[in-house]
Amino acid sequence: MTRVGVNGYGTIGKRVADAVAAQPDMMLRGVAKRSPNHEAESAVRRGHDLYAADPERIDEFERVGVPIAGTLPDLLDDIDVVVDCCPAGVGARNRERYASHDVRAVFQGGETPDVADASFTARTSFEQARDVDSVRVVSCNTTGLARLLAPLNETYGVEKARVTLVRRGGDPAQTDRGPINDIVPDPATLPSHHGPDVRTVLPGVDVDTAALKAPVTAMHTHSVNVTLDGTPTADGVRELLEQESRLFLVPEAAGIDGAGALKEYALDCGRPRGDLWENCLWTESISVSGTDLYLFQNVHQEADVVPENVDAIRAMMTDTPAEESITRTNDALGVGLGSRLGEQLTPNGPVTADD
Ligand code: NAD
Repeated sequence: MTRVGVNGYGTIGKRVADAVAAQPDMMLRGVAKRSPNHEAESAVRRGHDLYAADPERIDEFERVGVPIAGTLPDLLDDIDVVVDCCPAGVGARNRERYASHDVRAVFQGGETPDVADASFTARTSFEQARDVDSVRVVSCNTTGLARLLAPLNETYGVEKARVTLVRRGGDPAQTDRGPINDIVPDPATLPSHHGPDVRTVLPGVDVDTAALKAPVTAMHTHSVNVTLDGTPTADGVRELLEQESRLFLVPEAAGIDGAGALKEYALDCGRPRGDLWENCLWTESISVSGTDLYLFQNVHQEADVVPENVDAIRAMMTDTPAEESITRTNDALGVGLGSRLGEQLTPNGPVTADD
């Protein structure tokens, strides 16, 4: 059993905590948080031991009646690995503290690559995370791009990928984010930093990205153009991508036309928090012209990195082979959305009683 703690219990931290708790070979020893807000209270309700990240703020937890099991140093003394899910930049400041407790660390994509020994997605970088002291799970957009480009590169060779990222302005709970009535180039400089970040996990792949921020909270949307070395067919690409366990090819017949319907489907399927751990690719968008492939995919920013964090722990802490770890994580969480959709739907729409 790998003993795990999560430091930073917000959008990503609470999801990672639940995902770790669901793994039969991992034990969630507790979560640490700086502020005694509603997320702290809900951590306790969910049965997690809660630790005060800042020992000087213990009084604040006591004042609002949120019981704590100790402070962050107590948690660090009790675990093998910490998953740092603090706001971007705070992870780097925590690095020395983790090392001083002899605890390995998983950082998130808001940190710069030099925060850790290796950058990580399970599909591209599992072996690079062996026996290192720290890894950085790359950002939601980078994870989504790496999962897509890795099989394309292995099968056809990627000559050049060009991706426009229409990013959500903020997460649903981030009332201070925007824009609220605009679409903003962000960054306005081209290409954006996302392409270089993809190369931290797919070093050989040439990818340029341009990014915008839109007044939505549900998901990011990627408009993808990949010039391949080989000449693909749309059917061939579809069949290739269907084999990837963390890609959900949304069937045309499902009647899912956007992020709202995707989230609704996830909620209807009983996904916790309506989470979409898979990239969601619009099957009918997969098109080929010569060596150029085009498609749209959506990425749920709050969720796609969650199974990656679980695999990062296993890669660092055990000798479990990559495929086995990915399968174990998928099975424990229920990754594999849409696996029944193809069976249940006819090309003309949902199966009804009359069908
Ligand atoms: P968040 O603001 O939702 O959560 C951060 C949590 O850390 C909060 O609970 C906050 O109270 C707590 N915190 C703040 N300072 C702390 C400290 N010093 N010690 C312990 N806890 C502290 O942030 P998030 O969106 O979950 O992002 C966490 C990391 O994940 C960032 O690196 C971010 O870039 C990355 N990430 C975020 C998303 C996303 O869409 N939200 C997606 C992928 C990766």
